[in-house]
Amino acid sequence: MKRDIELKATLIAFERPAWTQSGRRLDWKIEMIMKDAICLGCDVVRQIDVSMSVAGCDCGGKVLLLLNEDAFRIGRLAHRLGSGYYAHSAILDIVSKMDHSHPIDYTKSRDVIRKDGTRQTFLFDYYLRESFRNVQIKGDLDRVWLAGALIALGDALEKSKYFDRAPHLELVRHLRNGVSHGNKFRIDNPEKLKTYPANNFSAPVKSPTANRFEVTPSINGHNVMFDFMEPADFLDLFAAVEIHMFSIAIGVA
Ligand SMILES: [Zn+2]
Repeated sequence: MKRDIELKATLIAFERPAWTQSGRRLDWKIEMIMKDAICLGCDVVRQIDVSMSVAGCDCGGKVLLLLNEDAFRIGRLAHRLGSGYYAHSAILDIVSKMDHSHPIDYTKSRDVIRKDGTRQTFLFDYYLRESFRNVQIKGDLDRVWLAGALIALGDALEKSKYFDRAPHLELVRHLRNGVSHGNKFRIDNPEKLKTYPANNFSAPVKSPTANRFEVTPSINGHNVMFDFMEPADFLDLFAAVEIHMFSIAIGVA
């Protein structure tokens, strides 16, 4: 992972003969204790001298001690995936409300590139309408961002073995596995849920009614989207993961 480290030493000690007193030479020592820190403004990891009371960044962002960079990056990812859903949803909404009363313009096309540089060409105006007129494509578009987001978030968490395996992180794991298995829950080992429960009971973000979601053996084979949870429930979970990751990354929630 690319890191911008301005000072590489973790402990730097300056020892200089400074003065003598009563014929006895005294040495004085200044210790700089360098630790990883993250700037919340530019997300750059740097090292700061923790013996100093204030640490700053040129961007003006707040700089905090960093305990776990992977957790910080995943927290940012969770935030981005939630924001991305809003952007995805806004685009689909605009497209559905455009004036499509005019005939399809068959002269307008767009290209999709292949690895070898050749292209596929599709009719822009026609497929713009397909995004909301074709019920199956519309359904896929409603699910595709969240499915991709769950896979991306689950895979990122998997690299760190789901950290402390909090129940809301375990919930992400089951949702991620469900959407990658045809949008259906697959509970291969029901006994494991006793050791590692998967729910949002202690999640730091929930709906105003504190709606509870729990993976139990009985949901095996049930649809993930949108039977078990609706879109905003996934977004609440992403926000909960973000807060949880920051609590691991920088010790504050
Ligand atoms: Zn900065």
